[in-house]
Order: sequence, then C-alpha cells, then structure tokens
Amino acid sequence: MSPFRIGFGYDIHKLVEKRPLILGGVELPHHKGLLGHSDADCLSHAIADALLGAAGLPDIGHFFPDDNPTYKDINSQEILKTVLKEIKKSQLTIVNIDTTILAEKPKLAPYFEQMKATIANSLELTVYQIGIKATTTEQIGPIGLEEAIAAYAVCLLEKRP
Ligand SMILES: [Zn+2]
Repeated sequence: MSPFRIGFGYDIHKLVEKRPLILGGVELPHHKGLLGHSDADCLSHAIADALLGAAGLPDIGHFFPDDNPTYKDINSQEILKTVLKEIKKSQLTIVNIDTTILAEKPKLAPYFEQMKATIANSLELTVYQIGIKATTTEQIGPIGLEEAIAAYAVCLLEKRP
C-alpha cells in the first residue's frame, strides 16, 4: 500500500459588517469580516478538512460542532493544532499543503507570507510546505459581489512507520 494520502477541503463563509476578517490566522484590515460560530477563517477550515480527509477521519464539524458553545469564536489555529494531534495519532505526517482563496476584496497577496508563517506554526511545518494563492471570481456570484469568501485546500500526507 502506498504511504501517501491525498486530501481535499473546501469552505465558504458569509462576509458581513462588524466582524473581523481573519484568513490563515491573520487579521486583515477590511470593512467586513466573515460570519461563523468560530472566527470563520475559511482558509484554515479548508486546510483542516483536507488534512482530516487525507487521514480518513471525520470532518471538522465532527470535532468542533457549531452548536457547542465551547467553540464560539474559537481561534481556528486551535482547530489546526487539534487536527495535527489527530493525524499524528494515525502515524501520518504532512508532506505539503496547497490552497486557493476565492475573494473579490481585499488584496490578499501582501499577507500570504504572514498567513504561511501562522499556519506553519500551528501545524509544525516550514513555510516551504504551504502554498497560498488567491483569485477573484470576476465580480460574478456571491463571492464576486463580496458577500462571501471561500477557500480550497489540498494536502499530501505520508504514513511513517
Ligand atoms: Zn468554516
């Protein structure tokens, strides 16, 4: 059996007034933020689901149910740290992670390095193991109309004996 396992994750949160915008654990200056039970960091959530999927574990909602008040406004870096513990239990290590954020505004590229450093710290990785890219949806659909931000993530895990 191959020691490698691929994972895929997707998440989307609504953009609303009077919420901080947190992506990849970094708070970005913007007039709107993402709505959710946690800090609504869709990038970190997509990564968490990719990692869990690759490990054959249940999704993020299983570990952090959104009807549990304990997880209200939880920092999603705590979610990533918990996910790392879970995949370590299965003797899996992270080879790399790649992601794409879908957002019309703000411009995200200036924050990629800070996001990578934050995620790398949570997952005990180097920044070289994390890819972050962003694209708009050309003003089409809810993301293009600045009503939501979404993220895709893939990852590769390796089983270590
Ligand atoms: Zn989410």
